Amino acid sequence: SYDEDMTDCLFCRIVEGEIPATVVADTDDVLAFRDITPKAPTHVLVIPKAHYANAAELAAADPALAGRLIDVAGTIATSEGVAEDGYRLMFNTGRHGGQEVFHVHLHLLGGTPLGPMLA
Ligand code: 5GP
Ligand code: ZN
Repeated sequence: SYDEDMTDCLFCRIVEGEIPATVVADTDDVLAFRDITPKAPTHVLVIPKAHYANAAELAAADPALAGRLIDVAGTIATSEGVAEDGYRLMFNTGRHGGQEVFHVHLHLLGGTPLGPMLA
């Protein structure tokens, strides 16, 4: 149904191939693609293919899958050449956290010194 297959969710639509994205990793249950408005030279979003609204919901329902997001992010950091100098992993959650897409996504940011925290 419309609700069950989340056709109204932007990132579910990217998973389904209905909206194009520049994919950098694709496993059984994880997809990673470049952010459309990169905030750093490397800016990749790592998502579960299944829909969860935020990191807390994902970790409560499937902590191993939450771990795989972090693992894939580390592999991409290496392939992007940012692992040695370092990078930032970030889950924005809710309104005060600046979350705009309510399908959980792990931001991987790197390729430049990011400072103590993003503004
Ligand atoms: P949030 O603020 O929810 O943590 O991050 C959402 C991110 O999704 C933003 O960095 C934004 O640039 C990115 N984004 C929004 N729409 C699209 C899209 O259609 N394609 C891609 N690749 N990224 C998107
Ligand atoms: Zn979704």
